[in-house]
Amino acid sequence: MPLPPLDQTRYLATALPGSRSLELMRRKQAAVSAGVGTTMPVFAARANGGIVEDVDGNRFIDLGSGIAVTTVGSSAPRVVDAVNRQVEAFTHTCFMVTPYEGYVAVAEQLARVTPGDHEKRTALFNSGSEAVENAVKIARAYTGRDAVVAFDHAYHGRTNLTMAMTAKTMPYKSGFGPFAGEVYRAPMSYPFRDADEIDGKLAAERAIAMIEAQVGADQVAALVIEPVQGEGGFIVPAPGFLAALAEWCTANGALFVADEVQTGFGRTGTWFAVDHDGVVPDLLVSAKGIAGGLPLSAVTGRAEIMDSVHTGGLGGTYGGNPLACAAALAVIDTIEADGLLERARQLGETLVGRLRRLQQSDPRIGDVRGRGAMVAAEFVDPATGKPDGALAKAVAAYAHARGVITLTCGTWGNVIRFLPPLSISDELLDEALTIVAEGLEQAR
Ligand code: PMP
Repeated sequence: MPLPPLDQTRYLATALPGSRSLELMRRKQAAVSAGVGTTMPVFAARANGGIVEDVDGNRFIDLGSGIAVTTVGSSAPRVVDAVNRQVEAFTHTCFMVTPYEGYVAVAEQLARVTPGDHEKRTALFNSGSEAVENAVKIARAYTGRDAVVAFDHAYHGRTNLTMAMTAKTMPYKSGFGPFAGEVYRAPMSYPFRDADEIDGKLAAERAIAMIEAQVGADQVAALVIEPVQGEGGFIVPAPGFLAALAEWCTANGALFVADEVQTGFGRTGTWFAVDHDGVVPDLLVSAKGIAGGLPLSAVTGRAEIMDSVHTGGLGGTYGGNPLACAAALAVIDTIEADGLLERARQLGETLVGRLRRLQQSDPRIGDVRGRGAMVAAEFVDPATGKPDGALAKAVAAYAHARGVITLTCGTWGNVIRFLPPLSISDELLDEALTIVAEGLEQAR
């Protein structure tokens, strides 16, 4: 029996958290490691469209998509059908033992939707971190070099190698070292915080100068970069920055690896964020939005690079799990059939428009930026321009208490990011933004 449709309205049935969530939180504290935190104090019961409903019947407007995962919406109809069909056929054989068509079909689709018309190959994994690690393995195998360059404010994951590549210490790295070696950090292009005269080209020269002086151009296996930084604060580099870095990589035999774990799969209004910059990466990492909530990640890249790894060198028990592959094919179908790239651009225009209007009368909003439906507001102390993390926290808490799921990010925690599912209605987005604006007023 299908569930009745989830009412697409914000609704608070109880004080937050309600009694069932309180009880579950008590059980969580007794059973789950304290190291695993939660943004919201409520437990989910259902989610789709633009709404998450909790176990007490409260309905929240979703501006987070489970950290940029449910881009097509949670339990999107085509995903549900495809996964149901697959779960009845088989749940697992291990692609490395008895391969199946779904994995190959996802690789074919990734070759089609990723930038560049060169021959490509893909390998599938489970998480974003795992795929980033594998991109580094592949880059090292192909180039015969060790060094990996990541950037200020970067986030690439929580495994040992990706912790080393992630910039921010709390909460991601503190106490968890020693970290993997041969990871170097270069300065990012951060237009809001860079001096005005530092355009994309100059910012790239600044990074390249550091790399050449401190790492050595002939030592670099890969430069790994998020084309719009996610956890680091939705930092959109200045135009020309990514292209200049990619050019430098080509000239110096290093690989340009785009970590599109957060930016990928239609989120920014194009299939991938590098499309905005006309950059064709050597390797592209996708995850999160790729499979509508099922765990799947991918490294897609030039055939000669991907095929340079010895047979058996890449893999894992669950990588490219058949349920996740069925979901990914349905996600791609949904993005195309429902015109979701266009929808991401529309939602982005609404978000940026609304936030910029707020900014005109509120100098605490230092910057509004983003691409497509990946938008953020950076809060500052207007007198000094210094990051105001307390304000971002207060606004987010106000929204949470009124039934809007918002997420913060940024090296200083002073950014609120907006990542609605592309299945959200205009009305719900509008209502959520009104509550965010009220939260800003209340925090004066
Ligand atoms: N790279 C980027 C850009 C991310 O945003 C994330 C997750 N926030 C990761 C890698 C790690 O992905 P996962 O949490 O699936 O390991």
